[in-house]
Amino acid sequence: MLDARCNCGALTLTLPGSSKLVVACHCLDCQRRTGAPFSVGAFYPVDAVAISGTPKQFSRDAASGAKVHSYFCPNCGSTVHYRGGNFPDVVAIPLGALDDPYIANSPDYSVWERRKHDWFDIIDEDVERTD
Ligand SMILES: [Zn+2]
Ligand SMILES: [Zn+2]
Repeated sequence: MLDARCNCGALTLTLPGSSKLVVACHCLDCQRRTGAPFSVGAFYPVDAVAISGTPKQFSRDAASGAKVHSYFCPNCGSTVHYRGGNFPDVVAIPLGALDDPYIANSPDYSVWERRKHDWFDIIDEDVERTD
């Protein structure tokens, strides 16, 4: 069983095992949300994830026009999941929130690479990249 939680432990998630889809995103919204130069999310079917605790929700407009919703701990501020955009049936867990964040050797996709920092590269040639 793989689980996830916020920094303070007020929010915990029970996950159905390893994710089949891991996506790195270099967009500016992800950079702002995380405070990091890119985000990495492990995706799961939305009804396969059990959440305990009460997250606060923040919704924003994505570039596609769809809403993206982030759920974060009102106590410590960690985002524990986000969803929406073009993929309403899945939920993304930030890789760093997982009890074992080392589940993936590399992401399956690297998106918004036009916003990627020049000093950073994913060395795995098999990663699917979009600009
Ligand atoms: Zn917390
Ligand atoms: Zn992004």
